[in-house]
Amino acid sequence: MEAYTLIRKIHKDCPLCDKVHEIEERKRTASTIIKGEEVAYEERFFFCANANEEENEFETGSMANENLLNARNAYRVKNHLLTSREIIEIRESYGLSQVDLAKLLGWGEATISRYESKAIQDEAYDTMLRIIKDSPLKALEFLKKNGDKFPGSKRNDIREKMVEKLDSYGKEFLTRQAMEGEYANYNELSDANGYTLLDIDKIECIISYFAEQVTNLYKVKLMKMLWYADVLFYQQSGKSMTGLVYRHDAMGALPIGHYSLMNLENLNIQEEAGVSYDAVMYHVYPSEHVNKTRISDVEKKVLDAVIVKFKNFKAQEIVEYMHKERAYIETNSGEIIPFGLAKEIRAF
Ligand SMILES: [Zn+2]
Repeated sequence: MEAYTLIRKIHKDCPLCDKVHEIEERKRTASTIIKGEEVAYEERFFFCANANEEENEFETGSMANENLLNARNAYRVKNHLLTSREIIEIRESYGLSQVDLAKLLGWGEATISRYESKAIQDEAYDTMLRIIKDSPLKALEFLKKNGDKFPGSKRNDIREKMVEKLDSYGKEFLTRQAMEGEYANYNELSDANGYTLLDIDKIECIISYFAEQVTNLYKVKLMKMLWYADVLFYQQSGKSMTGLVYRHDAMGALPIGHYSLMNLENLNIQEEAGVSYDAVMYHVYPSEHVNKTRISDVEKKVLDAVIVKFKNFKAQEIVEYMHKERAYIETNSGEIIPFGLAKEIRAF
């Protein structure tokens, strides 16, 4: 028998025995072939205990659609294509309807609607969507090119929205580029990045999450909390969470690109004049501009463990705590701290 998880039991009309009775809603990992490739995905279905073994499962129309969407998104993730959710997010970030975004990019009017609900986008379409995702400036160029497809007032509304996004997003975009440049040497999975590639969306989400739970969060402590979160997650899954690469620094583990990190516009970081470690103190607050969907429940559990452990530590205390880790003792100043060594941290 195949493995499954029970989601819930409900009374409903059963098409198999044609009456209303208690039915189990279940999920399992299924696999299917998409474009010649086998992909694993999560499938939901109903189970009727009264029916015979050959035909005791059924799905509703909306369930079938959702399962199909899951399968296609699994294919997209596997092939590094934007998921339907990500396409929706890009569109919504510009406040555009499906038809308007399709027009903006010079595509057939139904294209975006299809990509959000069923069809898998070709590589070239994916690239265009990514271009405007990361740059309102590029979106404005598309508007210049395809603007005649919109009535004048609509065109002005769209432009206004893009300019607005440019004001806040422009700096974020440049900072991300700088940070990605600093990680150009770490574009391969390795012991240095914990077998995860740099994920700035996720890092922003984690930092804001920490700041929600920890009052008086400053840079020094934050850097250590990021390291412990990455290391703990690596212990559990063999992969780090963020893709950050950490060096041995006088104050403990410090990620490459930490200056850029503090400049990310999506974060809510205020500079304050300080006396201790930093000449300038970076006070980290929760931010409304981060993508909150980027951390999974499993990751959240790890973050919570780190928060519980260090919530009340002062910067100096967490630095001293980290100094006693093997990862710190056995590396020299300026050296990368490999995750293979980092995972030897003392028990939490
Ligand atoms: Zn039944």
